[in-house]
Amino acid sequence: MDFAQEMSRRASEGQGRYISDLSALVGIDSGSDDRAGVNRVADWVADRLRSIGFDVARHSPGAGDLGTAALVGDALVARRKGSGRGRIAIFAHMDTVFTAGDAAARPFSIDDAGLAHGPGVTDDKAGLVAGIHAAEHLISEGSERYGELVLVCTPDEEIGSPFGRRVLQDAVRDADAALCLECARENGDLVGSRKGVIDLELEVQGVAAHSGIEPERGAHAGLESAHLTVFLQSLADPPAGVTVNVGVLRAGDRLNIVPDRARLSVEMRAPRQDQLTDLMATIRDRIAAPVVTGTSTRIIQREECPPMERTAAGDRIGALATEVAASLGFTAHLAATGASPMPIGCRRSGSPPSTASAPSGAAITPPGNGWISRPCRSGSPSWPR
Ligand SMILES: [Zn+2]
Repeated sequence: MDFAQEMSRRASEGQGRYISDLSALVGIDSGSDDRAGVNRVADWVADRLRSIGFDVARHSPGAGDLGTAALVGDALVARRKGSGRGRIAIFAHMDTVFTAGDAAARPFSIDDAGLAHGPGVTDDKAGLVAGIHAAEHLISEGSERYGELVLVCTPDEEIGSPFGRRVLQDAVRDADAALCLECARENGDLVGSRKGVIDLELEVQGVAAHSGIEPERGAHAGLESAHLTVFLQSLADPPAGVTVNVGVLRAGDRLNIVPDRARLSVEMRAPRQDQLTDLMATIRDRIAAPVVTGTSTRIIQREECPPMERTAAGDRIGALATEVAASLGFTAHLAATGASPMPIGCRRSGSPPSTASAPSGAAITPPGNGWISRPCRSGSPSWPR
């Protein structure tokens, strides 16, 4: 029996325990703003990891870590030395999008089709437990062929990781491989690359004037915003994977007044960072030369999430995962994604990935790239990000 098959056998044998662990964690309310609840999950995870031989460091946020945001729970960085080479980081988050009381109202259950239900069951408690169990199987099998295995558990992924981001970046920066334990595609595919996103607000300032009496005294912010909309939409390049969307456009509030203000909310996505950089430069050049005389436009960058670019190293990981999956009798491919219900990082801070292997259903994520999940479900409607 080869190694993958042996691990698969252990995982199958341990499925009952996996389900009871998952049930225990789903039973703990751990919304991102429920510090005590997230810390109860952290207690559970830390105890378990220590019991199987990890050194576990617990990091508590200080007021300075979060700015004005509410305090969140603790992060865990668990380390275990192996007998081989290379540092492998795996990471999951302990918080959910649910509120206190949801775990009791919708307790963990498995339906007739074999699907598990409960708040946060998929996102990300199943991944968290999968990481712990995978480590456990490796340790009990005596197959620790890594230099070090690092398991990072963050407390605040669903609100953009205001604290966990730094802990995660520090922990995975020098990793040879980093694997995110969020579920990936519904069909079992792994996510090996993801578009980057920039969210912008453009504020157009014009000059108000009576439109019937002295329109020449005005500078029409609405007209400039219309020109800007046409320009921005024209920057999309579907064959290159670049999308640009003016999703919100507002100007003026009275019928007979030349609008002195307009606002555009713009979202841009691209598979590569250099494409996003070029887009921003092009937009700045356009802003510097308004079409409507007397208007000016200010750019407010709301969010920037760098792409997880497709790399040769990531492809190697994908090939390895595909091979292992095939040896176990199922298929898993490496997928690229533009929209994402899961990890989209914020702010780049490091180098591209080298190499790694991936458990089925995981997202392959470059170490040191600042990748931390953004809210899986934030604010209104449930449009996938
Ligand atoms: Zn998640």
